Amino acid sequence: MKRSILDLSQAELSEWVAALGERSFRATQIRGWLFGKRAPSFDEMNDLPKALRQTLADEFTLFGGNVVRHQIAKDRTEKLLIEQPDKQTVECVLMREPDRRTICISTQVGCAMGCVFCASGMLGLKRNLSRAEILEQILRLDRLLDADERLTNVVVMGIGEPLQNLPTLLSVLDEVTAEDGLGLSPRRITISTVGLPAKIEELARSGKPYNLAVSLHAPNDELRTRLVPINENIGIDAVLAAADSYFEITGRRVTYEYVLLGGLNDGPEHASQLAALLRHRNAHVNLIPINGVETLPFAEPTAPRVDEFIHILESSGTAATVRKRKGADIDAACGQLRLKEAVQLEAPQ
Ligand code: SAH
Repeated sequence: MKRSILDLSQAELSEWVAALGERSFRATQIRGWLFGKRAPSFDEMNDLPKALRQTLADEFTLFGGNVVRHQIAKDRTEKLLIEQPDKQTVECVLMREPDRRTICISTQVGCAMGCVFCASGMLGLKRNLSRAEILEQILRLDRLLDADERLTNVVVMGIGEPLQNLPTLLSVLDEVTAEDGLGLSPRRITISTVGLPAKIEELARSGKPYNLAVSLHAPNDELRTRLVPINENIGIDAVLAAADSYFEITGRRVTYEYVLLGGLNDGPEHASQLAALLRHRNAHVNLIPINGVETLPFAEPTAPRVDEFIHILESSGTAATVRKRKGADIDAACGQLRLKEAVQLEAPQ
């Protein structure tokens, strides 16, 4: 099977070009087409000699997967379902706002973390995505933009636990931030994690100030372990300590995500406990009212409860915002990715 050219780093592509006896600027041209000029195929790379375009097409695929579904929501959020040759599917989303274009990408097929309110993990973890498979999501979404539009933000909040696929993710983000890649500032990239302390340290040492979002979801271990089972072996103290050190090393204020589950973790007592945990930390809380997942028994929080929750946090000095919901009519919202298709594709006949 052909490799995807997206699996090659800049250095590897240069070596490949050199091994063909081509001049080194050809590698620069090829990367220009892949990243900046959004070529749809090797054949469109029209400042390369025809023979080189043919060699590229003989040896590599540009994108290894096929888009098997492309949905556009009323708010112009777009979602792609990409099927890889092994039939596993990958989901990713483009969200538009007047001044930003944010993409949300996946790092694994399925997820092993088992959060009880999340659709991504319901079928377990199948495998990590490769560098090319993650870059494919980014570059396909980028190719949906108008010619004069540029991506402004990347959130690694799709399917999977990004820190379980960290070396691959870092190599992808190197291309997103590279000047001859997509040229985004690391400050415009957010990695969301369930909170794996050793991996958070590793990320901090990557040397790039990515934003870190930690999915806390509960203010005490008893409740957190019920909602986020992996917490049993970790504990909130260790998660917060790792996040503190992330802040010290990178200087980036950490965001804590907190999904509000009506009647479960959205009470004033939970807000007060959370406020006490975060009071002396430079933190921001992103509240996510649960997006209903069919077959899961969780209720949306009522508006007055959400307001009270925010009020308690803010009056103790912790900034809090409620996440806007985008693409709800195409199941593009948090926690909803892939499940429907997966059930359709994987259900026994
Ligand atoms: N594994 C990463 C990325 C998960 S997706 C992590 O745990 O952070 C990004 C966010 O959406 C996480 O905070 C996740 O807990 C949340 N989420 C998952 N299912 C959800 C749902 N049904 N409603 C609202 N948020 C959900």
